Amino acid sequence: MTFESMGLAPDVLMGVSDMGYTEPSPIQQKAIPLAMTGRDLIASASTGTGKTAAFLLPILHQMAGKEQGVLRVLVLTPTRELAFQIDEQALAFGYHIGVSSVAIVGGMNMNPQEDAIRSGVEIIVATPGRLMDHMKQKYCDMSTVQYLVLDEADRMFDMGFIDDVHHIVSRISKDRQTLLFSATMDDKMHKLAASILDNPATVAVDPSKPAESLIHCAFEVSHRRKAALLVQILAYARVETVIVFVKRKREADSLARQVRRMSGREADSIHSGRSQKERNAALEDFRTGACPILIATDVAARGIDVDNVTHVVHFDVPRSAEDYIHRSGRTGRAGQKGEVITFVAPDEERDLKSIEDTIGQTIRRDKMPRFNPGLDGGGDRDRDDRRGGGRGGGRSGGGRSRR
Ligand code: AMP
Repeated sequence: MTFESMGLAPDVLMGVSDMGYTEPSPIQQKAIPLAMTGRDLIASASTGTGKTAAFLLPILHQMAGKEQGVLRVLVLTPTRELAFQIDEQALAFGYHIGVSSVAIVGGMNMNPQEDAIRSGVEIIVATPGRLMDHMKQKYCDMSTVQYLVLDEADRMFDMGFIDDVHHIVSRISKDRQTLLFSATMDDKMHKLAASILDNPATVAVDPSKPAESLIHCAFEVSHRRKAALLVQILAYARVETVIVFVKRKREADSLARQVRRMSGREADSIHSGRSQKERNAALEDFRTGACPILIATDVAARGIDVDNVTHVVHFDVPRSAEDYIHRSGRTGRAGQKGEVITFVAPDEERDLKSIEDTIGQTIRRDKMPRFNPGLDGGGDRDRDDRRGGGRGGGRSGGGRSRR
């Protein structure tokens, strides 16, 4: 199947071609022809599968040739980064149709967002909280929306947005098309779907398996030695661009500092504690290669859509298999090879085992690389470990070996 054979409007096909897409991904092959007919749809597809075009293209197809200048499409998505990326893709795919789009997210000035809404923007891509803020004002009227997309609906649920989602949906005409995309489809998702969608078609692409283009391995390492191990890996493996996932914001900042100091390479962090401007700058530097090491928390990293990420490191074992798959999906995108490395401390073994069970794959355990005294004072590290005190304070001595 090709994009042409799906019968997409010529102006939409031009956008597809501008984006360099030649062949539809499996979820696009399944979802686009169904959604083009105007039918409601539930799609189980995780990030990295091409789900964004799977919902944007059929909507744009239906908008082609129609009068513009009024709000027609609302995409709700859990994170700011995802909102920006969907907004960008909407503008790119919709360029030849002449649609306008705006990302309505928190952490940004509300005035330009208000201006866009007042001017009759056709597509809003929003995180629920900020959209609610606008909806409290008179100028934000949802009654003209004809196409509603719930993107990463499971994540919106997990992040506590579901009441907001219900409220927003209640303001949209029932005479609409609704597309629900979710990486997982459990009971709560089915309940949500039943309350919001009308006689939906269902499509799925294997949600609980990491992409086949990924190579997985794990290192057994104590929590205390993880930072040093990361620096070793950055030095020895052919790590060109890497996203390192950590659990907490504070950890992201301190690890970025440590990596800069210990490896001499550029590293930055991205998490919800940083301003949107800082997050955008970090992402842009990562995208251009100016800063090839990005330390990220889950929330911020959800929407990172950067090609050629060669490695993902799970600095901590993720909480769930879905998180493992989502995080890992930042590399090996669009069929490219990618390497996924997990640092597993003794108290995290059980979690990793449960991930292995869920994804039906045994993750290879690799031996720790030998420490290079010239790089990180490895001999001292062993003594630190034996002393057992450490608690990270001693690790600031990582600077010792640097000149
Ligand atoms: P998504 O799952 O929408 O986040 O897409 C993952 C990545 O694959 C993005 O970088 C897309 O631009 C890219 N992509 C999606 N569909 C295609 C396609 N049919 N051909 C080439 N790249 C694609």
